[in-house]
Amino acid sequence: MNKNLLIIIMINLCMPLFSKNICGEKILFNGNIFVEATRSIENKAISIKDQRINYIGELDEFKICKEEKVDLKKGYVFPGFVDAHAHLKGVGYRQLKLDLSNTSSKEEMLQRVKVYNDKNQNMQIIFGEGWIEKNWSDKTFPTRFDLDEINSDIPIILERADGHAFLVNSKALTLSNIDLVTKNPSGGEIERLSDGRANGILIDTAKNLVQQLIPAQTIEDEKNAFALGAKIYQQRGWTGMHDADSLFVEKIRIFENLDLDLKIHFSLNQEDYEHCIKGRRSIKIYADGAIGSRGAALFENYEDKDSKGLIIYDQNEVRQLLKNLYERDCQIQIHAIGDRGNSMTLDLYEEFLEDTNKDLRWRIEHAQNVTEKDQQRFKKYNVIASMQPSHAIGDLHFAKDRLGLERLDYAYAWKSFIEKGVVIVGGSDAPVEFGDPLQEYYAAVTRKDLTGFHDEGWNLQQALSREEALDIFTKWPAYAIFQEEDLGTIEVGKYADFSVFDKNILTIDNMDILDTKVVMTIINGEVVYTHE
Ligand SMILES: [Zn+2]
Repeated sequence: MNKNLLIIIMINLCMPLFSKNICGEKILFNGNIFVEATRSIENKAISIKDQRINYIGELDEFKICKEEKVDLKKGYVFPGFVDAHAHLKGVGYRQLKLDLSNTSSKEEMLQRVKVYNDKNQNMQIIFGEGWIEKNWSDKTFPTRFDLDEINSDIPIILERADGHAFLVNSKALTLSNIDLVTKNPSGGEIERLSDGRANGILIDTAKNLVQQLIPAQTIEDEKNAFALGAKIYQQRGWTGMHDADSLFVEKIRIFENLDLDLKIHFSLNQEDYEHCIKGRRSIKIYADGAIGSRGAALFENYEDKDSKGLIIYDQNEVRQLLKNLYERDCQIQIHAIGDRGNSMTLDLYEEFLEDTNKDLRWRIEHAQNVTEKDQQRFKKYNVIASMQPSHAIGDLHFAKDRLGLERLDYAYAWKSFIEKGVVIVGGSDAPVEFGDPLQEYYAAVTRKDLTGFHDEGWNLQQALSREEALDIFTKWPAYAIFQEEDLGTIEVGKYADFSVFDKNILTIDNMDILDTKVVMTIINGEVVYTHE
């Protein structure tokens, strides 16, 4: 028989079998894929069937497939990035409301109000928040008259970033009957001009005088904000997130029913602990406060205050809660920031995890200041450290004043945790931070602020390698919700969740990470966002 004919016959015989195995419902091509088997970037094509990766191979192999083909536009395809600690509703609200944060002058702040007013013609009230004068050269507050020039027909109420003052326009004062003779409420002040008229600044309890003008949030508002948050997250390249809002189960069900593409793991309020579901809903509570406001619980006094911070929870109550969760095989995540807050929480965990065969993967959120000894206990009891790279590069600007250099040695100690074999998951805590996967990745690998600045005590040796940083946003968040078989890497059999960037974030220069763009976000094989 002719040799060529033989080859043709063989190909024809093999083809049905071949195509059955590699052709899915959709083929992604023209992409540089992070392939788990080699942990390197390779020029491959991916086939998707039933929401999962069906086959990874060379484009040539897919010639026989007739299925829909999606051009990855030479993008770099990574496992879907997951924000392991954020507040999705807050992300949406920040976008919906008038955001006055980060202004460099009074004029810029007023300009933002004007733009918002021009864009939203049917508003009954303008409510904005986040203004603060600390970066303005003219640090005097604006007045009611500045706002009247923008709109004097509807009330305008603008909250200062610290929540301790409102700036309002004349309409808000009139509707609230604040006039020449209105007395200051106890614990508050109506600031006045020299002629006795209110100037529009209401301090502390005086804010309550206009509070009734601000409409309460309805459940529809909350749903809108949550859905918007999910959409924003997809645009930024996240395929999933762990929501840290400790919601009641009723609220969680409402959000679950929105059927959003983004993969969301919820945290429950402790009162609803009976509704925990391993891998879907865990319980979240608080051990202490934060370093910035000196509320994190420390073993020794703050460097700049005669205080050791505060423990918020009651140990006996937590012990009972842990017992209930232990019996139900449920997961808990406790916010603990200071070294004492972390240590006390580990003491409680130890009571249950010391002699157990259960795979519970209890978490500590933030774990910002943890002694060497306690870092070892994370490993010993398989406690997950949920940490936020962008908190470190923000907080390190003031952490030296609060903690002193000695304690900074074991603060935001990502690398020492990883070297001990502790699982770290990375998050942003948005809207506290911005909530961008590339900013978080940059912070994790540089440990410098967004301008490239770092200072004494920032311990650059704690920065992560590119691969470690990839894992804390992909592989380990999947493990943290018991879904390592289904998510976290690009492997046949797993869900087709991908973050596609225009640059190879494993090799580009540090600053280029911040210029990297999201090309596409793919969840369950569906393209949920494409950069236009
Ligand atoms: Zn948080």
